[in-house]
Amino acid sequence: MTVEVLPKEFGETQGYDVVVRQKGATVQDYLDALNHAFHTFVLTRTRRPERADCWGCDRCCAERAPLTIIDCLVLSVATETRTLPDFLSRYTSVVVTGPVVDITLHRLEDGFCIFLDRKDRTCCVYPARPFVCQTFFCCPATSRALALREAIVNQGEDELVRRWLKTRRTVHYAENPCVNPRDWTKTPFAGRWQYNAVPLRTVVSKQLWRELYRPGFRSSRNWR
Ligand code: SF4
Ligand code: SF4
Repeated sequence: MTVEVLPKEFGETQGYDVVVRQKGATVQDYLDALNHAFHTFVLTRTRRPERADCWGCDRCCAERAPLTIIDCLVLSVATETRTLPDFLSRYTSVVVTGPVVDITLHRLEDGFCIFLDRKDRTCCVYPARPFVCQTFFCCPATSRALALREAIVNQGEDELVRRWLKTRRTVHYAENPCVNPRDWTKTPFAGRWQYNAVPLRTVVSKQLWRELYRPGFRSSRNWR
């Protein structure tokens, strides 16, 4: 096991912690560990206290969903969109505010994601859904677990912006745009097509790595 998701109680609610067991662990190892934990164990859904799973719930699908470069490549294949600019144009929202670029999944007028099936309220691209969708659960988590997720999202979105700067630039909304390409240097996602090619160690700060890399760490209790 290269990454482990562990139980953690937060008062009356059940949340989780993340530790890295092996130095070579990748973002895909982290995704696999989360996926295993969330399908195996009971976690508190704070936005849906009546149930202990996500089945049939679409509440997350009305929230801002930033994209990584790998999300866009995977979704381009799933949607049979031929180029990155075409994908960004059709399925995302590119907002430029001064020097800042934010690329998120497009939401329709009802506020929900473009990929949400309006009839079934399920995700049309579930196997190819973005990193933020795969990793969000409305339960508590430790600060290192949240920081790891945030670092991956930020670096992956920065790489997407770097690629966007090299293409014809789709822009859906701009306010005083003054983007400087020199602000976007290469990230650990550069040239990577899959999450199993991105080592976690390259994505996080040294301080966060010290908090995450715990080969011998044991949780104080087992999952309920
Ligand atoms: S994580 Fe999202 S889909 Fe799952 S129960 Fe919470 S709000 Fe609903
Ligand atoms: S991609 Fe799927 S899971 Fe993610 S916000 Fe859209 S409908 Fe929801």
